[in-house]
Amino acid sequence: MTTATTAKKPSPILRVENLHKYFPVLKGVFRREVGRNLAVNNVSFKVYPQETVGVVGESGCGKSTLAKTIMRLYEPSQGRVELLGKDLATVRPRELRDMRRDIQMIFQDPLNSLNPRMTIYDVLSEPYKIQGIKMSYQETAQTIKALLAQVGLPDVSLTRYPHEFSGGQCQRIGIARALALRPKLLVCDEPVSALDVSVQSQVVNLLLTLQQELGLAYIFISHDLTVVRHISDKVLVMYLGEVVEFTDSHSLYTHPIHPYTKALLAAIPSVERRELRRHIIKGEIPSTMAPPPGCKFHTRCPFAKDKCRHEKPKLRKIDISDVIKKIGKHDPSAPHLAACHFAEELAVADVKAVEQDT
Ligand code: SF4
Repeated sequence: MTTATTAKKPSPILRVENLHKYFPVLKGVFRREVGRNLAVNNVSFKVYPQETVGVVGESGCGKSTLAKTIMRLYEPSQGRVELLGKDLATVRPRELRDMRRDIQMIFQDPLNSLNPRMTIYDVLSEPYKIQGIKMSYQETAQTIKALLAQVGLPDVSLTRYPHEFSGGQCQRIGIARALALRPKLLVCDEPVSALDVSVQSQVVNLLLTLQQELGLAYIFISHDLTVVRHISDKVLVMYLGEVVEFTDSHSLYTHPIHPYTKALLAAIPSVERRELRRHIIKGEIPSTMAPPPGCKFHTRCPFAKDKCRHEKPKLRKIDISDVIKKIGKHDPSAPHLAACHFAEELAVADVKAVEQDT
């Protein structure tokens, strides 16, 4: 019998290592490279089976570029994207096509992600054609009907066109298409942000049900921290193409460490947290073509010091368990990574600010 101490941790489905994606900035008749837009900078994380890793940050922080680079819709500039032990970033097109059976994507704009000239039968049979899976019309129709039932749509939908469906239904069709090849990992790029709030929760609940039924893992990208909290096991916070904080969902929402994460949480109207009041930020996110030196967040951080303007903080493991005990919160002792020179100091200052307030 396997005991808890000897149980082997499962291998990750996806291992992203030092992933970079830059876009060259070209100018003049000879299209000379005059700069680089560093959209994803040195991102590393793992996704385990049946796990959801949320990715959050303001628009322009590199979330969607990260998703597309993982899927190799953009060629990575540097780094590895290992899917089930094979490097997606370097495999040849034929092998890449085979590997895409295990990793699929759900897009932000449900209607525009479906070809308006194709019936739902055509849309959902396309993945089988691309993979060279031969089935008769009847077999394909039966498979597609089962897929539609799985995402809560009636099989009469088969002969209809995308414009005949609502946004929520189109996203369900997008999910059915992503499930067609029975993948192990779905990369969901803002899958609910174009939907009404009531429909958002239906789609998120559908994703949670499918995860349980099919044992799926997700990378769930969103700028909405409330939705990400609901669905994610771990959360990765991005700022200007870099990871600034990464931990489990509970730790991130109960005791965030990085000032940027605190600012994002402080901006949620329903989050009443006295210790976060000091963390409101102003100003626009700087350009990834000319990022600030040192800590990239220093131009907006209310706690920036001289060191922040010159020295880039490393993403490191931070232990603030003493501080957490002081504010009476449960510490799940999960590894908590953040990139801030003064993380420990700021955590203590937060507690003092609350104490003075009461
Ligand atoms: Fe703010 Fe400095 Fe920490 Fe960056 S390193 S988040 S500027 S305190």
